[in-house]
Amino acid sequence: MTNNAHWMNRDLKSVWHPCTQMKDHEWLPMIPIKRGQGVWLEDFDGNRYLDTVSSWWVNIFGHANPAINQRIKDQLDTLEHVILSGFTHQPVIELSERLTAITPEGLGHCFYADNGSSATEVAMKMSFHYWQNHGQHRKTRFLSLQNGYHGETLGALAVSHVGLYRDTYQPLLLDVESVPSPDCFGLPRDEWEAHCRSMFAHMEAALERGRDELCAVIVEPLVQCAGGMRMYHPVYLELLREACTRHGVHLILDEIAVGFGRTGTLFAAEQAGVSPDFLCLSKALTAGYLPLSVVLTTDEVYDAFYDDYAALKAFLHSHSYTGNPLACSAALATLDLFAQDDVIANNRQLAEHMRERSEAFREHPHVGDVRQHGMIVAIEMVKDKATLEPYPFEERRGLAVFQHGLSRGVLLRPLGNVIYWMPPYVVTPEEIDLIADVTREGLKAATGV
Ligand SMILES: *Cc1c(COP(=O)(O)O)cnc(C)c1O
Repeated sequence: MTNNAHWMNRDLKSVWHPCTQMKDHEWLPMIPIKRGQGVWLEDFDGNRYLDTVSSWWVNIFGHANPAINQRIKDQLDTLEHVILSGFTHQPVIELSERLTAITPEGLGHCFYADNGSSATEVAMKMSFHYWQNHGQHRKTRFLSLQNGYHGETLGALAVSHVGLYRDTYQPLLLDVESVPSPDCFGLPRDEWEAHCRSMFAHMEAALERGRDELCAVIVEPLVQCAGGMRMYHPVYLELLREACTRHGVHLILDEIAVGFGRTGTLFAAEQAGVSPDFLCLSKALTAGYLPLSVVLTTDEVYDAFYDDYAALKAFLHSHSYTGNPLACSAALATLDLFAQDDVIANNRQLAEHMRERSEAFREHPHVGDVRQHGMIVAIEMVKDKATLEPYPFEERRGLAVFQHGLSRGVLLRPLGNVIYWMPPYVVTPEEIDLIADVTREGLKAATGV
């Protein structure tokens, strides 16, 4: 038995894996990873895999990054954790100061949780509670986009509209309205703006109709990641900010996946020149090291909760590990790397190389769309290029790409029929070339051409 097989057998006896039909592992090998270095993962048999998905979109500066490792080790010997109610600590103070300085204008306070879904829950509860504290008791509802994704706890799932994750739990969920997404699937880039302007009519109408009952609109800015890396133009966010203000409804921007340089600016909202009422961050916040999330909000929201104790206006939400010092120190090390190196400029060069290497896929007879925002490229396989008819999901074409990738040392993990590249920012142009070559071969394995 190989070392990999040994660990896989032990694993399957006691571990239940996320987002996985466990029966698949009767024939699909589980890959036990022994160590990581930069963009590379190494299994117990010594095979290496290029981490093209940034370990589920969290890792931006590579595995075992020396600067981040050191910062966490130093923090570990100082303070591993402390209650954040009535107590505080240096890493959480510094991190909050720095986050309020680098995020879009107007976000003055940071509230912490320990994963993205919890950040969504916090933002939803805070928005609702803000209106309650202002005596607006009719405001109890949320509005979101079809195909959006904001996490999988029940509140977050209710504002998410990806059927695969949501439909089973429908009877448990809050009743949330969703409007058609401004997704520019299949459109040439120069038509994105006009398309988004026209799609905004649905949002405008829903806001107009629902304004008295709506607490907030929640969207993923620019890229609907879990919904298949579907993308749209920043003008939609501009229109949305203006409309939310006009209708007296909060705007929650979920930058959990796109924050920290992924789309070509430090935050995606910058491309539209807008500030939300709530900004949710997680994933790359700690460069993929430790679970941490944060909701930044405005002074106006903060002030709505600030009163004498007996007024009972406080936000009484907590998690055991809120503001964990080790996680905060990983986040501080991450921000140091952004401050030291010109990460955004370097990303632009890498993104340009990704563009050049993905362009050719447009010609492929089973590619319906190639799209990009910064360091995310998506190549969508279709059954029929002319009509954009998708391959039936049961055919699992993406799985063929995944399996081919593994055989060539590249971790490509398509979302259904969507192959995407979302590598750590320390990837090299040569490694992007390898990703592109293996993607081409994987397409052939999946589509026969
Ligand atoms: C991943 C993700 C979440 C949920 O974060 P978890 O840490 O997985 O709970 C929420 N919103 C977006 C946009 C995400 O990509």
